[in-house]
Amino acid sequence: MSRIAVVTGANKGIGYAIVKGLCREFDGVVYLTSRNEERGQAAVNKLKKDGFNPKFHQLDITDDSSVERFREYLKETHGGLDVLVNNGGISFMFDAPETFPQRVAETLRVNYFGLLRICKALFPLLRPHSRVVQVSSSVGHLCKIQGAELKARLASRELTEEELTQMMRNFVDAAAMNTHKEAGWPNSSYTVSKVGVSALSRIQQRAFDKDPREDIVVNAVHPGSVITDMSGKLGTMTPERGAQAPLYLALLPKYTEIKGEYVWHDNTVMDWVNGEVKTFRPDSPNLY
Ligand code: NDP
Repeated sequence: MSRIAVVTGANKGIGYAIVKGLCREFDGVVYLTSRNEERGQAAVNKLKKDGFNPKFHQLDITDDSSVERFREYLKETHGGLDVLVNNGGISFMFDAPETFPQRVAETLRVNYFGLLRICKALFPLLRPHSRVVQVSSSVGHLCKIQGAELKARLASRELTEEELTQMMRNFVDAAAMNTHKEAGWPNSSYTVSKVGVSALSRIQQRAFDKDPREDIVVNAVHPGSVITDMSGKLGTMTPERGAQAPLYLALLPKYTEIKGEYVWHDNTVMDWVNGEVKTFRPDSPNLY
């Protein structure tokens, strides 16, 4: 049976480059998924012209029925999954017309709750030795949270998925009432969504460590400051370079020790709890 890899939000940017890299390096079938059928098919056709052969499936990470359709398709066609790269995400430009509470609700809906929806749907399909990559950000490091109490809760080895998810809901509610800063949250929807993704990966690895399926590994990654639509083309790296660390994590060898970690774009494992990350700017001035 073929091994299967899936990348979300892969019609452009870093996701597209991850699919290209997997087509080169992964021994199996690679799915380019996209919320928009036309944009996804166009991306697949472009890769085919370059001699690669990914498959396409529609997948909107915020849409229950789209996710359910894809899950059933994978189950029936392939019986399982070996690599999942949760790359799809959004950010608002800092001068977007939406109010802060609107930006918070939408950013969390896609970046945290959308990613969580995919994990809940597809994790049961993961086969032994699967690799999951959660595309976070430099602002997904714990040091971006100011509140000491919030930090301690997020860092705790006892934190559960339900508690983390409730914290994300609390942030959305606090932003709506403009009390998020006094609660210890930063003034950035994108930052909180990505801290949530990084914290979730740690919780998920603890669950995989107890899973009867052997050697399932999940890591969060900062892909670097990448020239894409999301960064307003203001990054410093090409999408191919941004795909480097996600690919490294997607292709980690059997029984790797690198699991439940937060990994930098140069493949370095960072200390998420006690460390600091240096960014010469928070990814780009546009990520709010
Ligand atoms: P792009 O805006 O170029 O690509 C984002 C992709 O996510 C697009 O394919 C987009 O689809 C897709 N997407 C958005 N919403 C959904 C959804 N509901 N369901 C499925 N797919 C969706 O951004 P990047 O390539 O820069 O970003 C990729 C990842 O890397 C993101 O998670 C981002 O947060 C992260 N990142 C990026 C950095 C950078 O400097 N660029 C830095 C740090 C992290 P569509 O085309 O339909 O909008």
